[in-house]
Amino acid sequence: MGLKIILLGAPGAGKGTQAELLVNDLGLVHLSTGNLLREAVEAQTQLGKEAASYMEAGKLVPDQVIIGLVEEFLQKVGPSGCLLDGFPRTLAQAEALDEIFKKLDMKLDYVIEVRTTPEVIVQRLAHRLVCRSCGAPYHAQSKPPAKAGVCDSCGGAVVRRADDEPETIKKRLREYQEKTAPLIDYYQQKGLLITVNGDLSREATYEEIKAKLGVTGK
Ligand code: AMP
Repeated sequence: MGLKIILLGAPGAGKGTQAELLVNDLGLVHLSTGNLLREAVEAQTQLGKEAASYMEAGKLVPDQVIIGLVEEFLQKVGPSGCLLDGFPRTLAQAEALDEIFKKLDMKLDYVIEVRTTPEVIVQRLAHRLVCRSCGAPYHAQSKPPAKAGVCDSCGGAVVRRADDEPETIKKRLREYQEKTAPLIDYYQQKGLLITVNGDLSREATYEEIKAKLGVTGK
């Protein structure tokens, strides 16, 4: 059974960036609920229509909408290793995930908390860019795409996220503190939590993750 890992952290902590590195190195299947929802909004599916107003307002989408999606994903993943990036984000989601794992006879191996200070988050989000097609993360200053506005991986359009406006960022940080931060204790008590310093460069944070997971190589 491959490793099942959760990435936890505030908006702008660098979850997406670390997820990319981990997924490549460890051969994990990646589920970013944020990317999945943005694709659904773009494609104007039923899910996208339901989620759009919450996302624009910087709020979490309702638990029942997202839990079903994750269950479907884990069923498909089966014994392969996977990385959940941006899920769970509420206690109800974490408890539902425990049930899903039990039902599918799977176990959670690690929860990696990427911890950042508010100043770093604000600075990062102000310059963050994302590929509209594949969700690859960029930064206008520290990691711009080779050709402006074009994704290095898939050639899609690299844009600023609609919810990275200052007012929405504030709301998303509040949602994180209120609803998601309690999960740190939840997983600490289960003995699954690994905390790394997300204020460092992407490489340095990733080195810390690998050291704490006991991953060698690359
Ligand atoms: P992210 O790309 O992870 O920052 O997610 C962008 C937005 O998608 C969030 O601000 C939420 O509105 C929504 N979202 C993503 N994952 C979840 C989740 N697990 N629960 C509820 N809402 C979510």
